Amino acid sequence: MAATDYYKALGVPEGASAGDIKKAYRKLARQFHPDANPGDPVAEDRFKEISAAYQVLSDPEKRRQYDQMRRFGTGMGGFGTGAPGGQPGGWQRIDLEDFGGLGGLGGLGDLFASIFGGGAARTRGPAASQRRSGPDRHVTVGVSFPVAARGGQISVTLPLEAECPECKGSGAEPGTSAEPCPQCSGTGQISLVQGGFSVQRPCPRCYGRGVLIKNPCRECGGDGSVTRRRRVKVRIPAGIEDGEKIRLRGKGEPGVSGGPPGDLYLSIQIKPDRFFRRDGLDIHCTVPISAVQAMLGTRIRVRTVHDKKVELAIPAGTQGGTRFKLKGQGITKSGKTGDQFVEITITVPEELSDEERAMVEELGQRSSFKE
Ligand SMILES: [Zn+2]
Ligand SMILES: [Zn+2]
Repeated sequence: MAATDYYKALGVPEGASAGDIKKAYRKLARQFHPDANPGDPVAEDRFKEISAAYQVLSDPEKRRQYDQMRRFGTGMGGFGTGAPGGQPGGWQRIDLEDFGGLGGLGGLGDLFASIFGGGAARTRGPAASQRRSGPDRHVTVGVSFPVAARGGQISVTLPLEAECPECKGSGAEPGTSAEPCPQCSGTGQISLVQGGFSVQRPCPRCYGRGVLIKNPCRECGGDGSVTRRRRVKVRIPAGIEDGEKIRLRGKGEPGVSGGPPGDLYLSIQIKPDRFFRRDGLDIHCTVPISAVQAMLGTRIRVRTVHDKKVELAIPAGTQGGTRFKLKGQGITKSGKTGDQFVEITITVPEELSDEERAMVEELGQRSSFKE
């Protein structure tokens, strides 16, 4: 599309009146409208060209800027809202019927409303070029030691930005609609002339959204999004490390103007455990038994990360500090499985009754207790 001259594009002289420009545009728009020329790329380009030209020449302020730039010989690339390489805004959505009733329309504003009518009628007000994917979210989630070790599903409650159910994200009170911003004609961009160059800036009036909301939605105050507590089910892989991140695609914040939602990153914080410690794929724990149990031998039940207890036989004469291995009760990761190590500590009573003291004293006289 090589629209270098908007006057030529519409086939009008430079000093043409607003009425002549409108007349020329209407005639050409009917002729080259995509609906009247299905599958004809040349007609489509021509239609884009005349639409771009009309957007500028029909607006007195834009036309004044354009005339000025022509006089100073500034390159036309990027001028105005519909210039080549500019925003492919709502014009593609105009139906041919839209041109039928133009005779009765008074001001240019009405014509603009008609041009951007397609855009405004969409539930998402801003131009298609405003589509952006939603921001990613980063959240820290505490996970219990056993779940981190064996893996499993947890449920996380998060305050998440969600599309407002009342206005479906448009920000306009139901029954009303956002209107195309008159300052930027719905593109969300304005062009400023700086030092002879035309610079595109987000429109200050609509903050780049391309629409103005006269009646903001009462539910969301015009934001188009609300904060909801959302429960998200998360699968924790076995053996996840402290500080590891889990990415949930599309569970971040909603996209802008119909864009895809962002991702949710869960940073895993493993809660310290009183009983278990971890060393690679192995689990370590310490179990106290009494001096008598150590002397006579016993059977104890040891907690594992696998949500069950395992019986362990402690032989008679077990010394404090002895380690027993519960094979395969560690963490399974990448095809390998660790073990659980149980270290035995021996406790003695802090106080004895007189009778107990007498018995222990008698025991102490026996040769096996003398060393
Ligand atoms: Zn709303
Ligand atoms: Zn604007």
